[in-house]
Amino acid sequence: MKFDKSIKLYEEAKKMVPGGVSSGIRQTEWPVPLFFDSAKGSKMRDVDGNEFIDYVMGMGPNLFGHAPEFITKAVYEDMQNGFCLTGQSEKENDLSVLVRKALPFDFQVRYASSGTEIDQLALRLARSIKGKNKYIKFEGHYHGWMDSVLYNTHPEAGGKEDSYEPVGESLGMSQGSRDEVIIAPWNDLDYLEYILKNNDEISSIIMEPILWNSNVILPKSGYLEGVRELCNKYEIILIFDEVGTGFRVAFGGAQELYRVKPDIATYAKAMAGGFPIAMIAANSEIMEGLTSGEVVHGGSFNSNVMSVSAAHAGLTHIINSNSDKFYKDLNGNGEILIQGLRNVAKKQDIEILIQGFGSFFYLSFTSAKSINNYREHMNNVDLKKYKEFAKSMLVNGIRLSQNGRWHLSSAHSLEDINRTIQAAEKSFSSI
Ligand code: PMP
Repeated sequence: MKFDKSIKLYEEAKKMVPGGVSSGIRQTEWPVPLFFDSAKGSKMRDVDGNEFIDYVMGMGPNLFGHAPEFITKAVYEDMQNGFCLTGQSEKENDLSVLVRKALPFDFQVRYASSGTEIDQLALRLARSIKGKNKYIKFEGHYHGWMDSVLYNTHPEAGGKEDSYEPVGESLGMSQGSRDEVIIAPWNDLDYLEYILKNNDEISSIIMEPILWNSNVILPKSGYLEGVRELCNKYEIILIFDEVGTGFRVAFGGAQELYRVKPDIATYAKAMAGGFPIAMIAANSEIMEGLTSGEVVHGGSFNSNVMSVSAAHAGLTHIINSNSDKFYKDLNGNGEILIQGLRNVAKKQDIEILIQGFGSFFYLSFTSAKSINNYREHMNNVDLKKYKEFAKSMLVNGIRLSQNGRWHLSSAHSLEDINRTIQAAEKSFSSI
């Protein structure tokens, strides 16, 4: 497989764009961040003519694969009448009706354009209600790249034993933001209660209810319920960041699976089949600051015509396909893939662990039988080996994300899955 044209374009890009990319996460791709000229369904084609079955899927958004016709058609039609109205449209109301069918709880909703900004709004709303400045975030969880939350997402060593000091992940972060955040280990109720008992300045707890950003770790049995009870007891607002899991693991996200009600939930990624949209959901009491306008929330591109149209078309497609069946099929195909990967690894005595669901999962090279928190992930998983595996998969025609998480779409066929398992068999033996 040759990458000459991508390498040449990347050299040109680097002269104009720092690092040659517009998002830091792409910078570490091997052999260079590839340049693509088309993507359709489960496949992508790069400028050198290489074709890949894609499991990056936009890091989650492309729930129906690339460029599904029912979305491109709806967006094309709607955009004939304007793009960015800075005004309301009837379709936005229609979207809210559909969304409220998906959500397991009776929430109001507001739209924005990215997961990063919607999480900022969630924290702001919580502060406005409680009048307290601090919030709790968990090690290994990601809530966007803003200063206030870019702490202990992927701390190198996972911090000192038993110490959960906030560790900023970027140069140039506001030093003040460090004083607002309290870091805790996830899946550990005792530690959480210890913090809550000893601190009365906390407004909220934010978490990914399924830890999508570190090894796809599931909440321990009773953990989410336990956090909910602690939040009630200490009068803290519970925020579920469902930017990754929303509309992907089930129509109603992790809340549908675990039946635990947060005070605020945030969504983005899979909600609009690849178009930029984000959403906050909460009851009308929590939303009061937005209703009155006392809590500020703006955004020129919020509920723009294309994003609303794409989300509407995507959710309509899920409902028309019967939402339970849509997710059963998606997760079912993913399970076939997971089982196939496990089988070919076992045949070669390669120890791997796959955690997650069919629609997204994480493949680790480890002898651990399960990974339950970020430190277990850092201490037990051979991340270098995964990178070698991903390189080998790429030259065998399979595009994987650098971080180990796989995303399935409804466009992945059983033939794609079989080809992927065959490529994995070759790649396991070559590493
Ligand atoms: N929260 C979670 C759980 C995420 O996974 C991400 C993105 N990976 C974000 C927030 C930020 O979303 P965005 O990239 O759309 O700003």
